[in-house]
Amino acid sequence: MLRAHCAGHLDTMRAEGRYRDFAALEKLADRFPAYRWHPGGGAPPREITVWSSNDYLGMGCDPAVRQAAADAIAAHGAGAGGTRNISGTAPLHAGLEADLAAWHGKPAALLFGSGYIANSAALSALLSALPGTIVFSDAMNHASMIDGIRRGGSGKRIWRHNDLKHLEVLLREAPPEAPKLIALESVYSMDGDVAPLHAVCDLADRHGAMTYLDEVHAVGLYGATGAGIAERDGATARIDIIQGTLAKGVGVVGGYIAGDAALVDYVRSTAGGLIFTTSMPPATAAAARASIRRIRDNAGLRERLGERAAALKAALDVARLPRLPSESHIVPIPVPGAGHCRMVARRLLEEFSLYVTPINYPTVPRGTERLRLCATPFHTDAMIAALIAALCAVLPMVREP
Ligand code: PMP
Repeated sequence: MLRAHCAGHLDTMRAEGRYRDFAALEKLADRFPAYRWHPGGGAPPREITVWSSNDYLGMGCDPAVRQAAADAIAAHGAGAGGTRNISGTAPLHAGLEADLAAWHGKPAALLFGSGYIANSAALSALLSALPGTIVFSDAMNHASMIDGIRRGGSGKRIWRHNDLKHLEVLLREAPPEAPKLIALESVYSMDGDVAPLHAVCDLADRHGAMTYLDEVHAVGLYGATGAGIAERDGATARIDIIQGTLAKGVGVVGGYIAGDAALVDYVRSTAGGLIFTTSMPPATAAAARASIRRIRDNAGLRERLGERAAALKAALDVARLPRLPSESHIVPIPVPGAGHCRMVARRLLEEFSLYVTPINYPTVPRGTERLRLCATPFHTDAMIAALIAALCAVLPMVREP
């Protein structure tokens, strides 16, 4: 019964072009953003340029980061050996948490296995602590925040994406005495736009709300030391909890929260997603620490990223290719229709050796399917030119007048 039901759903997804199959890609660490693609079916592997890597700064390929991981594996083995509570806390974990707290200018930080788990576990733990809390959640918030909010069991009001007037209306409608938490992202992953942090914090102050900020797509990339948009905008002290990932700008894997010591300690002591799962390998923590050191010291990497993102956008505009009005390194190209979007991505890969991820429902609403380009400091002018030529070849019908 269940099996037939699942098979039916899969058929529907295939018919709608939403079935997920994963291209087999291997990162070529010494040639990033080059990857090796394995087409399957007996065809030989092929070297391609990736335009959709979330290793935004190429730190997963950085020699110092790779060396730190290799050294830590040699010294401490491949796995942590337990949960944080049961023999799974190494000095490298505690050291990384101290680094993260210092980086974000917060008293404490706490590691999780991924950014998803960090959001889900921290939000559900914090919201369960104070029944009656109302969460004000941006409509574009990531699935991991939605998951945590649902599991926290609190009341939820969804404000229209980045719409301060709507947020204010919803805050005003809520009982003044109810505890409130505003949950938002800084850089939004599918549109590349940025939240107006100070204006949100002004509303939070006025209505006595706490703030929870997902900086997953900003950590490493923005701010004087790469701590994110809160740092860039001078808003760090106004954000109660900052959540981030070690998987994107930092180039490794893992997630975390940083904030007030009592709040972080409460999550540490109560969140199932921390307590009942094995901690990250010490070598992962060592790689993340090395990456954060490189990122903090290397403002040039961020300048180069900004410059490459601007070059990509300018080249798209010159070619009159459509793009969403992104304010960041994430540059979405609208290609409505799930099947069409997938077909375009497939042609880019097969005919032009370019990997660009098609983004479909449920990640974005139906009808707003897109290709999601991510600039990195390592995309050259020649790579941009090759991408533009390929897009012009596969998207002639959607070019703007
Ligand atoms: N928050 C946002 C906004 C994300 O886009 C993602 C993942 N793409 C996550 C959290 C989860 O991060 P991770 O990949 O580290 O699980």
